[in-house]
Amino acid sequence: MKTNFTADQRSNPLMAMMEENLRKCVHCGFCLPSCPTYSVSGDERESPRGRIYLIKDMLEREGAPNKEIVTHIDSCLSCLACMSACPSGVNYQHYIDYARHYVENHHQRRGFERFMRMLLVYTITHAKVFKIALKVAKLAKPFSRFFGLKISNMISMAPTKLKTAEITNEARIYPAEGIRIKRVGLLMGCAQNVLRPSVNEATIRLLTRMGMEVVVSDGVGCCGALSHHIGKNDIARDSAKTNIDAWLKEFDQRGLDNIIINAAGCGTEVKDYAYMFKDDPAYKGKAQKISDLTRDISELISEHQLPTVKLSNQPNIIYHDACSLIHGQGIRLEPREHLKSAGFEVVEIPGRHFCCGSAGSYNLLQPTMANELKDRRLALIGEVSDSNKVSILATGNIGCLMQFASGTDLQVVHTVELLDWATGGLKPPY
Ligand code: SF4
Ligand code: SF4
Repeated sequence: MKTNFTADQRSNPLMAMMEENLRKCVHCGFCLPSCPTYSVSGDERESPRGRIYLIKDMLEREGAPNKEIVTHIDSCLSCLACMSACPSGVNYQHYIDYARHYVENHHQRRGFERFMRMLLVYTITHAKVFKIALKVAKLAKPFSRFFGLKISNMISMAPTKLKTAEITNEARIYPAEGIRIKRVGLLMGCAQNVLRPSVNEATIRLLTRMGMEVVVSDGVGCCGALSHHIGKNDIARDSAKTNIDAWLKEFDQRGLDNIIINAAGCGTEVKDYAYMFKDDPAYKGKAQKISDLTRDISELISEHQLPTVKLSNQPNIIYHDACSLIHGQGIRLEPREHLKSAGFEVVEIPGRHFCCGSAGSYNLLQPTMANELKDRRLALIGEVSDSNKVSILATGNIGCLMQFASGTDLQVVHTVELLDWATGGLKPPY
């Protein structure tokens, strides 16, 4: 793609990266059929190629972006399906992240929208505040129709029951069963440990059963993805620095073989810390080290062995790929293989893989598109669930789990909960 950046613009390393990325795009359009928002709207401006043009125009012109550009950047899910489809290697992830940051700094949103975005970042990333917010949302459920679409969608997404977490984000060591083969740091996540603490509980049971010592390190908190995806890069960098410092302290004092993440969205973010700090001399090397140590839980299991399977008559399950796992981290086969090794029959969702509409805080900020995508995905799941006698839907990301749970009678679980159950743990949901 031809670009018209000035020498002055190119002197900004981030802008230079954007230009290099843009020049890789050959307009082929291979990315279009993979894009959920394009498949719903049929509008080129809602496609990856369309957004690339709009963003290029915004950056070349500089100054405040017009409303049309902001609308089409906001409506992108950051699902990264376009990146998997692109034959030219356009890094859409870094491209859209920078565009969102640019919009955040050059566009004045309406007061309510600004407030909502700030509220989301502050609430979801602070466990105690998030718990209070969910309790308020539960009380407000009967009155949700009196609020606008965004607020009523937020209220309806809030779970009616919240289980108290048996394990908290406080520093703690969970010893390995038998001979210790590894010492791993676990990211507990901010929203996940409030919404579904059983995912971390199952992870700890499974890993310790596999002979790993699991460490929850003091100071590790939100990975920064939520802030990053709405353009608040400074908040995301602060969260990342706090985590990097805390994990490196653990690494230096007692050793860490890996950092384990069971929320795919957080995993994609932490693996990208190296890129986030590539121009920061103080954090470049540290961030690279943390990204190198990071594994999704399914990758770690692949490097070792599942414990002995103790369950019999495992039910059939449907597996949904979280975008951040399949596109963000290129992990597709591993979760399926583990589920099959644990004795589950894996039923595939028919048709092309598409996002469920969760996408971080997307379902809260863009409820119309998010609900449409959820309904489309659930319709396809419905086509195979009855004929295959499936009552469980598994996925590897808390966002997808909550999104589906708000629209189906199937039991929606995290893959690790099934693996733990099959190898001697508790039956989900518990
Ligand atoms: S990230 Fe997803 S929604 Fe955004 S342009 Fe790419 S495919 Fe479309
Ligand atoms: S597939 Fe890649 S090269 Fe082709 S239009 Fe999309 S982004 Fe550009």
